[in-house]
Formats: sequence, C-alpha cells, structure tokens
Amino acid sequence: MSTYGRLPIVIERGEGNYLFDENGKGYLDLFTGLAVNILGHSHPKLIKTLTEQGAKFLHISNVFYNKPAIVLAERLLKYSIKGKVFFTNSGAEATEATLKFVHKWSKQQPEERLGIVVMKKSFHGRTLGAIKLTRQPGVYQDFPVTDTPVYEVKPHDIAALEHIFQTKKPAAIIVEPVLGSGGIVPLEASYLQAISKLCQTYNVLCCMDEIQTGIGRTGMFFAYQHAGIKPDIILFAKGIGGGLPLGGIIVAQEFSHLFQPGDHGTTFAPSPLSAALGNTVIDVLIEDGQLETGSKIANKLYEELTRLQSIFPDLVTGIRGKGMMLGLVMNLKAPDVKFIQHQLLEEGFMVDVTQQTIIRLLPPLTLTSDEITVLIGALEQQFQSFLKVGER
Ligand SMILES: *Cc1c(COP(=O)(O)O)cnc(C)c1O
Repeated sequence: MSTYGRLPIVIERGEGNYLFDENGKGYLDLFTGLAVNILGHSHPKLIKTLTEQGAKFLHISNVFYNKPAIVLAERLLKYSIKGKVFFTNSGAEATEATLKFVHKWSKQQPEERLGIVVMKKSFHGRTLGAIKLTRQPGVYQDFPVTDTPVYEVKPHDIAALEHIFQTKKPAAIIVEPVLGSGGIVPLEASYLQAISKLCQTYNVLCCMDEIQTGIGRTGMFFAYQHAGIKPDIILFAKGIGGGLPLGGIIVAQEFSHLFQPGDHGTTFAPSPLSAALGNTVIDVLIEDGQLETGSKIANKLYEELTRLQSIFPDLVTGIRGKGMMLGLVMNLKAPDVKFIQHQLLEEGFMVDVTQQTIIRLLPPLTLTSDEITVLIGALEQQFQSFLKVGER
C-alpha cells in the first residue's frame, strides 16, 4: 500500500555502516532503518547469535519460560530502574501497554485521575490508542481515538505543566527526552528534573518514551539518565532487537504488581531470537565499550556539523540533538530539503528528513572518524552546489 513515500532504491545487503543496492552501489547509512540498526549491519556478534539461537528454537509463547528474554529483562533493569519488564514486538505496542497500565493504575488511586499529558509535536506510535498521544497532524486525522483526555504542553514551559497537573489531575505524562519525529528537539535536563519533581508532588506517573532515544542512541543507555531522574515507566523498542522486532515497557517495582494474568498479552513477544540479539546488543554496547566509543564519535560529528553550519549560516540555522540523534535545521522550503536529501542519496548517503525541513541524522554508534569526514565533505558539496543553482 502507498503508506510511505519511498526513496527509489532497493537494498540487497549491508556491511558495517554501509548498505549496497542491487547494482552494488554503496550508501553510508545515517538512517539506520529509523534509529534501529545501532550497531550497523552484519555485525559479526549479531550474526553469531542469530545462528546459535536460530538453531535452538525460534518461538515459545509466554506460557513457558524463555531464557534469553529473562536474561535480557534482568539486564534492562540493571541499566535502568528496579522493576519489571513487559515485552512487545514494537514501539506502538509499548505505548499501548503503557496506556493500559496507566488506566489500571489510575483506578487504584484514592482520588480519580484521568488523562495523559504529552508534548506538542510528540510521536508515540500509530495504533488507535497511540495516535491520540501523537500530536502531529497527518497521523491522527480521520481516525477514531480513545476518550482518554490528552493535554498538550509546550516543551520547557514548567508553569503551564504545573497548571495542568493542578487543575486537570491527569494520570500520567509521557515524554520523549529528545523529540524525534517532532524535529529533534532535546529537552533540557532541568526540564526533565522539573517534570519528575512535579510528578511526585501531584501523584502523576512519569513515563519516558525511549523508543527512539534509548539503547545508547544519545550517549547514555537511556536518554533520561542525562538528567539523573527516576521515571515510573520506560518505553523501549527500535534499537534493542539488533534489527529484529522487539520492544516493551519497564515499570518501577512499586507498581509492577498491577498487571495480573489476563490484563495484557501478546503471542510473539518476546521472540527468543530478538531477545538473544538484544543481549548481544547490550554485550557490544556495554561490555565491549561501543556505547562509550560511539558517544565520543558522536561528539566529533556534532563538532564537525557545527563547523559546517558556520560556513553556511543562512542555509543551516541550527544543529541540535544528542549523541547519534542529530538534526540540521534547514532554512529552506520543504521541496528544497527533499531535493538535497535525494542528491545525497545519489551521492551515496542515506539521511532522513523530519518536520519537512530538518535533516535528521541517526547514524549507528559504530560510525567512524573517516566516515564523518566523508559525510561532511558530501554535505558541504551539496550545500555549495545548491547555493550555486539558487544564484542562477
Ligand atoms: C518509532 C517510535 C514509536 C513507534 O514505534 P513503532 O515500532 O514504529 O511502532 C513510538 N515512539 C517513538 C518516540 C518513536 O520514535
């Protein structure tokens, strides 16, 4: 179906940080399947796990124990908060699980709490429950939505948030620590701390949507950790499965008993294969030190992009984001940004565009210094030739 405006190439294989099309042409992958392939492509350790777990068993259901998943849950808790994990197959399902959990929790409160606070331009998924929390026109139009009230706030407006907490008595707030689809908008640590504090004061569940920002993408295992806060619910997906579908929610210990048998379920998740790959992703990120190496490389990328911006101050009006989640704010019309994206693809660079005028870079944590040099060269050349065409 025509649900996506696809880019005109067919990929045949990947190796390291490159993808190759049917004709053998290589592309530096700064798109990573929308923030999924955190370790690039064909990582030898992922291939080893795929073969080993693949030869054991591929599916079991939640009616039996699944060792790779139990080990993964324990490790996710070790690197986040004390609590329990519910696994899903995708990000949107993590949002659905959160919605149901928040509903169950609100029923147990002494005073009724109803509704969820979200950020302007948030993105939390495209299922019928999640679209109500996704504040982007073009996602929720034309579809029925749940009657849970949703309150939209502008990022960094603490007074407006407190006013809503006080007057509307919502059950939860859900936050992307760096808004992804909303245009790569990093939230200040002080703002996340204020949210966390207000949640405690007003008895509101603090939910961090780490589906895009998590699993090392911003330089910490989860992005909320930059602010040193302790959320009640953490949503994850995208990077964790090493390329296979896997997601879930982590719920703080004090609430984790609320889901009882029958309250929620799924046949496929957690796939033992996805979970085994999840364990390998954590091995590489943490034990092999790729998270640390990648975050140093990400700093270099940010510096180089900032330097590039200073050459084209009228064309690029800002570089924003964190770690391997960066946006170039282009001072151009949407078709011109699309044009540059297509030119870059032609030259062998895959980049994303979000909010029409933000070039979104989601490189793997395995990006190298040499690849940064090549990328900056290509961007510089594209901006240069774009300006020349404009002069004519
Ligand atoms: C991608 C994304 C989702 C939805 O995940 P899917 O796996 O596409 O359903 C939800 N929240 C955020 C922040 C995302 O980036």
